[in-house]
Amino acid sequence: MNIHEYQAKQLLAQYGVTIQQGGVAATADEARTIAEKLFAGGSKNAVVKSQIHAGGRGKGMFKSGFKGGVKLSASASEIGAFAQSMLGQVLVTKQTGPDGKLVSRVLVEAAPKILKEFYLAVLLDRAISRPVMMVSAEGGMDIEEVAAKTPEKIMREVIDPALGMMPYQARKLAVALGLRGDLIAQAAKLLVGVYKTWWECDATMVEINPLCLIELPDGKQSLIAVDAKIGLDDNALYRHKEIQEMRDLAEESPLEIEASKFNLNYIKLDGSIACLVNGAGLAMATMDIIQHFGGSPANFLDVGGGASKDQVCAAFKIIFSDPSVKAIFVNIFGGIMDCNVIATGIVAAVKETGLKLPLVVRLEGNNVVAGKQTLVESGLTIISGDSMADAAQKVVKSVAR
Ligand code: ADP
Ligand code: MG
Repeated sequence: MNIHEYQAKQLLAQYGVTIQQGGVAATADEARTIAEKLFAGGSKNAVVKSQIHAGGRGKGMFKSGFKGGVKLSASASEIGAFAQSMLGQVLVTKQTGPDGKLVSRVLVEAAPKILKEFYLAVLLDRAISRPVMMVSAEGGMDIEEVAAKTPEKIMREVIDPALGMMPYQARKLAVALGLRGDLIAQAAKLLVGVYKTWWECDATMVEINPLCLIELPDGKQSLIAVDAKIGLDDNALYRHKEIQEMRDLAEESPLEIEASKFNLNYIKLDGSIACLVNGAGLAMATMDIIQHFGGSPANFLDVGGGASKDQVCAAFKIIFSDPSVKAIFVNIFGGIMDCNVIATGIVAAVKETGLKLPLVVRLEGNNVVAGKQTLVESGLTIISGDSMADAAQKVVKSVAR
C-alpha cells in the first residue's frame, strides 16, 4: 500500500524526523487559512503541494493547462488561488502515466530558504537480504538518472536488521554528504529516525527526495524532509491499525478494490490474457508459461485454496471488466480446492455475463471428473487443455488469431 506525502510525514515525525509546519486542505479556503497562520507565525514563504500517489509533481502539468503540482508563494491569497487551480483537477506527471491523477487534497507548508537538496532512501536489498540506506548529494532530481550516469554519487550503508542502524553508520553518511560541524549529529539523528520509520512501520521503502539543508530566520542551518514517500508491506498491515486508516481508495485501481472485497489476490497487468488460478505459486508459473509461449498476462489472480462459487464468480466478473482482456485462462490444480466448485462458478459467471471471449480451462486434482462434467453439460464453448503447457499454447493461439 502507498500513502500520501502528508501521511508519510506524520509517520516520520513520530520517529523524530524534522518536517515543516503546515496542514492538509480539501478546499482553497482551508489552504488560504493554513497559509495565513504560517505567515502570522513568521514564515516568509509557503508552498502548496498536490497530494497524489505519484512523484514528479513539481514538473507536472494539469490537464486544465495549469503548470506545476508544487507551487511557492509569499501571499496567502495566492496560495489559496493555487490550491483552487489544483483541487478537483487531474495532474499528469512522469510517474502517473498519461491518464494522470485527480487531486483531492493539497498540503500547505512553510517554505524556508533551501541551501542544498539531498536524496535519501531506505530499501530492502533482496540480493543480500539486508536493509540498505542510500544517500546522494544529487538530491531533488531524478535518482534513476544519477544511478545510471554517475553511480559513484550514491552512497550505501548496509544495515544489520538485528542491530538496527548504528549511529556511526548515520554519521558516516552525513559526512559523505558533505555535512560538517553540528549538522553531522543532526543528520545522524534524522537518518536513524528514517530507518526506524522504515523498520517499525513495516515499510518496503521510505524515500526522502529532497532532504534539505535550510537556513533558519536566525541564520542557523538545519535539515528537514521536504518530500516523503512511503510504501508499506500489505502483508504486515494488520499490525498497524493507524496506517490501515491512511488507505486512500481513490488512488487504487477500481478492479483491485473490488477484488479485495472478495478476498481475492488480484493485480492488474497490461497484457491481454486473463488468468484465474489457485495458489500464488501456480499463478506466477501460469504468467511465466503464457510469456514463454509468446502471450502476455492481463492480471495476476490467486483465488486461494478454498474459494467458494461466489468468489469464483466475482473473480470472473472482475477479469472480464478489464477491456484489454482478449482471452481467459483458468488453471486450477485442486489440492484442497474442489474442481467442481470452480467449474460451477465458471458456468454461473459465463451465463450471467454472456462472455464471448475464448475460455481455456485446465482442471486437475480433487473432484476433477465432476468438474469436467459440469463444464461439458453447461453447453458453453470451452476449450479444454490436457496439461498446463497445452492449455497455455491454446490460449496464446486464441489471442493471436
Ligand atoms: P515531487 O517530487 O513530486 O516533484 P517535491 O515535494 O519533491 O515533489 O517538490 C518538488 C520541488 O519543489 C522540490 O525539489 C523543491 O525544490 C521544491 N519544494 C518543495 N517543497 C518545498 C518547500 N517547502 N520549500 C521550498 N521548496 C520546496
Ligand atoms: Mg520529490
